[in-house]
Formats: sequence, C-alpha cells, structure tokens
Amino acid sequence: MRAEIIAVGTELLLGQIVNTNAQYLSQELAAIGIDVYFQTVVGDNMNRLQEAIRLASGRADVVLLTGGLGPTQDDLTKDALAAVLGRELHEDRLSMDKIEGFFRNRGVEMTDNNRRQALTLEGATPLANETGLAVGNGLEQDGKYYVVLPGPPKELIPMFETEARPWLLQHALQGEQLALYSKMLKFAGIGESALETKLLDLIDSQTDPTIAPYAKEGEVTIRLSTKASSESEAMVRLNSTEVQIQQRLAEYLYASEDVPLEKTLVDWMIRDGLTLSAAESCTGGMLMEHITSVPGSGSVLKGGIVCYSNEMKEKLLNVPHHYLEGENSPGAVSREVAQVLAEQVRMITDSDYGLSITGVAGPAFSEHKPVGLVYIAIAQREQETQIYELRLNGNRETIRLRSVKSILYRLWRCLVANQGA
Ligand code: ATP
Repeated sequence: MRAEIIAVGTELLLGQIVNTNAQYLSQELAAIGIDVYFQTVVGDNMNRLQEAIRLASGRADVVLLTGGLGPTQDDLTKDALAAVLGRELHEDRLSMDKIEGFFRNRGVEMTDNNRRQALTLEGATPLANETGLAVGNGLEQDGKYYVVLPGPPKELIPMFETEARPWLLQHALQGEQLALYSKMLKFAGIGESALETKLLDLIDSQTDPTIAPYAKEGEVTIRLSTKASSESEAMVRLNSTEVQIQQRLAEYLYASEDVPLEKTLVDWMIRDGLTLSAAESCTGGMLMEHITSVPGSGSVLKGGIVCYSNEMKEKLLNVPHHYLEGENSPGAVSREVAQVLAEQVRMITDSDYGLSITGVAGPAFSEHKPVGLVYIAIAQREQETQIYELRLNGNRETIRLRSVKSILYRLWRCLVANQGA
C-alpha cells in the first residue's frame, strides 16, 4: 500500500518551520506496513493545493494531509479536498459543541470563523482532536483513503495515535497489518562502494528483505528490512540474510545493531577488563574524544597525550630526536614515530593497548609529505607493534575523522584476533 504525505503551509515552503510532521508520519506509516512513496509540501493556495491532492490521488492509495485546518482564511485543506472529491462540507456536531464549550469556559466570545474548525467532509469519519479544536477526517473514495490531520505536532501526534492509525488499520489495511521490521548491520574498515560491490548480486536479486547500504561518518551501515505479521517471522528472514552477508564480510561487520564502533570497542574492553591509552598528533584528541563519548569508558581509557609538536613528542613520549629532525630523519609523519608513540604511551600508562596517530591532515603538506598520509600504530603487551600507513582523501576534518575510525577498526581487529588466540 502506497502513501503520500502532503504537508500544507507557506511557512514550510519559506523554510520558517521544519516539516517534522512528514518525518513522524513516515516513520509511523512504515511501522504499520504502509510505504510512503512521496512527501509533498504545498503552500496555502487553493489551486496548488487541489493540484497536489489530484496528483497524490493518482499515484497513492493513502493520502495524508497535515496543516491548514485552523479558523482563518488561509486554512484551506478541507475545502480543497472537498472540491477535488466533489463532496460537501458540514459542521460536525460534536466538534462544534467542543469549540463552543471552549470559548464559553474562557468567557470569550467566539468569532464565527471558528466554526470552520468543525468542518467535516460529507461521509467522512471525524477524527477527534484531544489537544486542539480542529477536527480531523478519515474518508474513503474510489478505493483511495484520505486522512486530514492538523498542523501543530502537539495536535497531530495524539490524533494520529488515537484516531487516524486505528482508522487506517480498520479501513485501508482492513486488519491485515504487516509491520516493517529492520535490522542494522554496522561495518568498519571498508568503504560504501567496496561493500556494495561485494554484495551486488544479493542487493540486485533480493527484494525481501531489502538491503540498503549507506555511509555516515566513516562507517557503513546496511539496513535490512522486511514486512511481516510478527517480529519472530521477520527475524527469521532478517537473520538468514544477515548470515549471507556475514559470510562475505565478517572481517568488517562489527555489530548487528545501530551502535558506533567506539561503543562496541569500549563495551568489549569493559567486559574483558582491558585498558588503552593514546598518543595523538594530527587528530589532537579526537580519538580520545570518541572513546570518552561512550559511557563507562573511564575503566578502559587510562589516559593519553596530545603530542602535536615535535618538542612534545620528544619530551613526553621519548621519540628520539634524530627521528624527528635532520636531513635523513624519517620525520614526525612516519612509521618509526608512530611506533614509538604507541609503545611509549602504552608503557607510560601501563595499558594493554597503546594507540598512536601521526599524519598530514592538510590543507598544506608537511615535511614534503602529501596531505592524507597518516600512520597509525597499535602497541600491545608482549606483541609486535602493528603499524599501518593510510592514504586518505578529503578535507582536514575528514582526514582526521577517518584516521580515528581506521585505528578504531584496527583495534577491533586486534580484539577479534586476540580473542581467538
Ligand atoms: P492552527 O489551528 O494552529 O492554524 P492548522 O492545522 O491550520 O493549525 P497550520 O496553520 O498549517 O495548521 O500550522 C500551525 C502550526 O503547526 C505551524 O505554525 C507550525 O508550528 C506547526 N506545523 C504545521 N505544519 C507542520 C509540519 N508539517 N511539521 C511541523 N510543524 C508543523
């Protein structure tokens, strides 16, 4: 079943308010198995509103309108719908009683235009407004379902929950509720396009569950979705698709829920009583910021050093002077320095893992090394230090963020490897 949401209001078009009603309704409709194919925004203009309704009626089974139910001349939604569907408007008695009672209780004279808020399309079910005065409507015509809701979210949300949703379930879905269930798979260490390439045949051939990858802040997420009449039925399908994906991408799949990588790591390290520390140059504390954003990280992160200048690298983390300065020195952005930083910070803090990041975040190159060249290292007790050279693209912020995500990914791989050892 396809739906279209029409949000009515010139304020929306002018960008004065954000269309949160469409967001809310889309989520709620998905949860009862109604697919939203279009969201439209139209101003308080009779012709354009009618045009939008006609267009939506042609391509959707369910048309939801929000806004424009108030008392004033620019509140046109019900008039426009009535005109398109060829129906009369009449005053709903119960709603009128409520409006009159509202003004009586306040001792204020009711202006006549308030009667507009009680208008209902002929043959429609009035949808009561618990928190406001304008009545909503639910109506079926020619196999299409129309729902009219008020604009203010504090009115729309209760009306949707107590009136419109039950009406849709009974009339449009006729009791056959297929809810949408989703599962998020989180990946690190792989880009969106590489991940999609590895799953292309699955993505192309599979319509249920659907597999939708998207990238955000250095991580890739896949949302698996299916419609089912119960959660257990959905989980069987979702889990079987997850297994297929896991078989191909196990080394990148770090969680089967929507959590950031740092949370997975911190939770794991808390569970196993492990600690870490960090020495950061070009990321200036961003790695530690990621770790400490996770509740409970206090028992994992022992501490760290932002050693931005060569002087601090030498003074606080014992990087040999000849690594940093001199004609034949490897320089601050080098494997050698990354290694010393990681090993020293681990030793000084007596942590299980010592992490380091040193690189050229740009925009200018440094030490004649290109922007995006970054070295990360992970030192561990009684194990050889792992050092990785990264060649990252993007602006300064992106390079810094990707450096952090890369080392978090490498740390996760270490934990996985050590678990198996
Ligand atoms: P009222 O009786 O208050 O006039 P209404 O049903 O006529 O209600 P509008 O006049 O269109 O609704 O909008 C009233 C207020 O509701 C807006 O000023 C805005 O704060 C909020 N609103 C309207 N539409 C939306 C929307 N799509 N998303 C979020 N808020 C909205």
